[in-house]
Amino acid sequence: MSVPFRIGYGFDLHQWAEGRRLVLGGVEIPHEQGLLGHSDADALTHAIIDALLGALALGDIGKHFPDTDPQYKGCDSLDLLRSTMKMISARGYQVGNIDCTIVAERPKMAPHIPLMREKLAALLNVTIDEISIKATRTEHVLFEPEKGLLAMATALLYTN
Ligand code: MG
Repeated sequence: MSVPFRIGYGFDLHQWAEGRRLVLGGVEIPHEQGLLGHSDADALTHAIIDALLGALALGDIGKHFPDTDPQYKGCDSLDLLRSTMKMISARGYQVGNIDCTIVAERPKMAPHIPLMREKLAALLNVTIDEISIKATRTEHVLFEPEKGLLAMATALLYTN
């Protein structure tokens, strides 16, 4: 790979479910529902992982961390992000910046975003200024918001 910059994007969608935790960007958010998934169902972290993998054309999260593999059952998605970062650095790349959007009607994301940025910045070896997390609602137009939450991420990688 000779290009010094690589861009990737990721998209993830999880269903709301009773009796599950809501974890986004490694932060547990108090809410009456959580997200369904084999792992901790951290849709934001999954979108970021797909953006990082996509930037280097390494496939997707399902290829590297299959949800059929019992070792990932209930796992902390930040561990998957750590493993992804090892793949990125093994290829000589570093994260430049990340920009994400969470789409959900509820709960309010704003109070939790600073901690998400802090956790993700530490893990991606960048400063908080390099991690942007935005949240928006669907206005009931895009999809049925009571059914799920989606997250999108773009990532810029660079090599020296
Ligand atoms: Mg996912």
